[in-house]
Amino acid sequence: DAPSSKHFIQQAIDSDLASGRFEGVFTRFPPEPNGYLHIGHAKSICLNFGLAKEYDGTCNLRFDDTNPTKEEVEYVDSIKEDVEWLGFKWDSLHFASDYFDQLYQWAEKLIEQGDAYVCDLNAEETREYRGTLTEPGRNSPHRDRTPQENLELFRAMRDGKFADGAKSLRAKIDMASPNINLRDPVMYRILRATHHRTGDKWCIYPTYDWTHGQSDSLEGITFSICTLEFENHRPLYDWYCEKLGIHHPRQIEFAKLKLSTLLIGKRHMLRLVKEGFVSGWDDPRMPTLSGYRRRGYTPESIRNFCTEVGVAKFNSTIDIVRLENSVREHLNRVAPRRMAVLDPVKLTITNWPKGKVEYSEAINNPEDPESGSRQIPFSGELLIERDDFREEAPRKFFRLKKGGSVRLRAGYIIDCVDVVKDDAGEITEILCTYDPETKSGEDNSGRKVKGTIHWVSQEHAKQVEVRLYDRLFTAEDPSKVEEGHTFVEHLNPNSLTTVTAFVEPELAKADVGERVQFERLGYFVVDQDSTGEKRVFNRIVSLRDTWGK
Ligand code: ATP
Ligand code: MG
Ligand code: MG
Repeated sequence: DAPSSKHFIQQAIDSDLASGRFEGVFTRFPPEPNGYLHIGHAKSICLNFGLAKEYDGTCNLRFDDTNPTKEEVEYVDSIKEDVEWLGFKWDSLHFASDYFDQLYQWAEKLIEQGDAYVCDLNAEETREYRGTLTEPGRNSPHRDRTPQENLELFRAMRDGKFADGAKSLRAKIDMASPNINLRDPVMYRILRATHHRTGDKWCIYPTYDWTHGQSDSLEGITFSICTLEFENHRPLYDWYCEKLGIHHPRQIEFAKLKLSTLLIGKRHMLRLVKEGFVSGWDDPRMPTLSGYRRRGYTPESIRNFCTEVGVAKFNSTIDIVRLENSVREHLNRVAPRRMAVLDPVKLTITNWPKGKVEYSEAINNPEDPESGSRQIPFSGELLIERDDFREEAPRKFFRLKKGGSVRLRAGYIIDCVDVVKDDAGEITEILCTYDPETKSGEDNSGRKVKGTIHWVSQEHAKQVEVRLYDRLFTAEDPSKVEEGHTFVEHLNPNSLTTVTAFVEPELAKADVGERVQFERLGYFVVDQDSTGEKRVFNRIVSLRDTWGK
């Protein structure tokens, strides 16, 4: 790789390895288990695991579980499953809560050094004393307690002698610092809550800042990669490591992934789930990794997308079409083609020998010669897409029209002679003749037609349920709402349409998770709701981007 093609994090790593500051690339992916992973996390996963792989280092999975009220075992399990599904293996698995004892010891060390104190201000007073961007903070009235006094109070905090929120442990840094994070940040708060791993052992819990860097240090992480909102926390990260005199990783920030039309904050997603706007965290319309998995996205397509969008230092919004194109591009190469009719109308071939069934050879994937071909039943009674026929059509309509001709995929050229209608004037049957000289693969007739359409043999076709998913929100940025309104107003009322479709017989046996292209319609996957009697297919993505067209 030419150095110029490396992004700023790779360049920082190269320089630290060259200078001898670090001897290897040891990274971690540190989710808080308070929800399911989303597409933004995929970017962080690909970056952290990707760098470890590229530099022959390691990457840990660490649960940042310092907030007992919001965290659940269900989330821990789903996160592991999602990381593995994306295609990554962690070197070792950790929980920040495993470090609670060590963190406690280190807190006492800071107290003894005179670098931390117990403060009696409540949360609101603490905020008020902290000052603002334009005004310096004020010292807490408890800032000058002696180390001995602080140690006794801190131990009493740990031993449950005070009410929730009555006291906190704070780092003694600088209440006048222009960086608000350095104005005596809280290290411990009193909170009686049952933790998903430590149970009721603790009634004091460490804050994010007091946990994160120390966890990195304990694991020997060298590059602690995080998102931009932590840039102003870096001086605090460094301060803790220096005061403790422990291994000091380098924190590097990059811009969060933001995609148009998506709402990926856990807070918002939780609301969508809790209030039933979607069927669950893995609803195929959700921007969660479990949603994309169920929708039929491939892990490769998500990894490729993350690589292509790159790593940036400034926030921007990526067009959702780029993610959709990534899965199109991958499935175009690997998904076998099949025929399915979603909105059928009957087509009868009047000159076809009555009752005759012929098998025609259909190519599985023109992009992949090795995928071979299959035999599909052809007969005189077919179903085609209602939209592929017009009784009267403009000149540029290259599908089937009365008096016109079209090729049936892997079949013959047919000529439309008449239509049959019901009392309401709706077309119930299209009558055609076929040209026996034009069979696909054996056609020497010299006849040329402009269009090719898909079809299934009525007698042989199987019925399946097809769920046509579309974007969950219609807005470019669903988080943008006017005063007193909520994102609910941006929900797309047509994000799910369910139809009964008719498909090639083999498709009725497809396994859950199998992905195919329905010719001319899009890519589809077999959903987990499928039963022995009825397969359910999810539309992954249409063949082309037709949104708003
Ligand atoms: P959210 O509130 O959207 O779930 P978060 O940052 O609170 O995001 P965490 O579980 O704390 O979620 O994140 C785990 C890791 O994933 C962190 O290192 C975080 O920076 C990273 N991450 C989260 N969202 C994004 C995103 N949109 N793009 C890139 N990385 C992200
Ligand atoms: Mg978080
Ligand atoms: Mg979060």
